[in-house]
Amino acid sequence: MYNKNIMKEKKKFILDVEINQLPSLLKPIITDSYRIKQIIDWIYVKKSPSFDYFSNLPKDIREKLNEAFKLRSFTSIVKKESILDGTIRYSFKTFDNKHVYAVFMPTESTKSVCISTQIGCPISCTFCSSGKIKFVRNLSRGEILEEILYIANDTGENISSILFMGMGEPLLNYKNLISAIKTLLSKKEMNISKRHITVSTMGVIPAIKNLADQMYGIKLALSLHATNDKQRKKLIPNNFDNSIESLLETCKYYLKKTNSKLTIEYILIKGFNDTSSDAHRLTRLLKTSNLIRPSVQVNLIPYNQTDTGYQTPDQIAVLNFKKILKLNGIIVNTRQARGLDIGGACGQLS
Ligand code: SAH
Repeated sequence: MYNKNIMKEKKKFILDVEINQLPSLLKPIITDSYRIKQIIDWIYVKKSPSFDYFSNLPKDIREKLNEAFKLRSFTSIVKKESILDGTIRYSFKTFDNKHVYAVFMPTESTKSVCISTQIGCPISCTFCSSGKIKFVRNLSRGEILEEILYIANDTGENISSILFMGMGEPLLNYKNLISAIKTLLSKKEMNISKRHITVSTMGVIPAIKNLADQMYGIKLALSLHATNDKQRKKLIPNNFDNSIESLLETCKYYLKKTNSKLTIEYILIKGFNDTSSDAHRLTRLLKTSNLIRPSVQVNLIPYNQTDTGYQTPDQIAVLNFKKILKLNGIIVNTRQARGLDIGGACGQLS
C-alpha cells in the first residue's frame, strides 16, 4: 500500500504537458499520431477525468497511460452552491495539501468561471481577503486548466468565458498562465474565443507589454481602484511603485497592439474613494490618457465586506459615481456581487 502511494506520486501530471510535447512524452506507449490526436481530444475537448473513459483506445494503452500518468491532481474538492444566484464556489486541495479556489457563475446565456493562478498572493492588497493568505507558490499550467476542466465536468455546462480573477496575481505567474491560455485558445483543445478570456492584474508593466507583444488578443482588466498614487498605495502597498499614469500608458499600448478590450476595475469603498471628486478625477485620468473610447469600460465594484476594516459604499454613492462617469462619455457598468452567501464574491476567496 505504502509503496503504491509512492508510485502514484511519481506519475507525471499529463495536463502539465503542452500538446506539442505529447508525442515525445508518449513515445514509449504510442507513436501513431492518430492515437495522439484521440488522446488530446479526450483530455481537452471531451474533458474526460480518467484514462479509463478513453473508449476508442485499446485497453492495454489505457492501462499503460494509467501506470505512467495522472490526469487529475487535486486530491479533494469541496463545493458550496449559492441559493441566491446559482454561483458555485469550489475549493480544491492540491497534491501538497494547499487550497485553490474557483467560482462558477452561471446566467441564462453565459457560463463563466473565475479561476486562481497562485496559492496565496504575493501582492497582499489591504482590502482583499485573498491577499491575507501568505504566498505559497504558483499554480502549474495543469492545475490552472484542471480548475476549468473540473468545473466543466461537474456542472455539465459548456464554459463560455474564463476570468483570471481569482486568488493570486496572474501576471506574476506568466509562463504557466500563457501556457494555459494557449490551450484555452487552441481549436484542437478547449477552443474558447479570445474575447471571452480576461486576465485581471494590479499592473505588472513588463508582463502587460509582453502580453501585448504576443498578441493573443485576450481581454485585459486593470485593477485601478484609486485616482491618485497616494490613495492607490494605501490599497496596494506592494505596487512596484508604478504610477497610475504609467499603468494607463501601458494599457493604451496593450489596446494599440492587440485591438482588444480593456476593463478598468474600480472598487468603491465607503468614504475612501467613492466621492464625486474621485469620479471627476477618474474621468480626467482617462481623458488625459485618451482612454475614453468604445474599447474601454469601467467596472465599478461596490466593495464586498470582508474582515479588512473597509466598508461597502452607500447605494447613492455608487449611483452618483456611475452617473458622473456616464455623463462624461465613459462606458460604465456596476458589477453585481455573485455568491455573497458562500464567500464567493470578489475578494472573499480565502
Ligand atoms: N491580482 C489580480 C486578480 C485578482 S483580484 C488583480 O489584482 O486584478 C480580482 C478583482 O477582485 C480585483 O479587481 C480585486 O481588486 C477585486 N477585489 C478584491 N477584493 C475585493 C473586495 N473585497 N470587494 C470587491 N472586489 C474585490
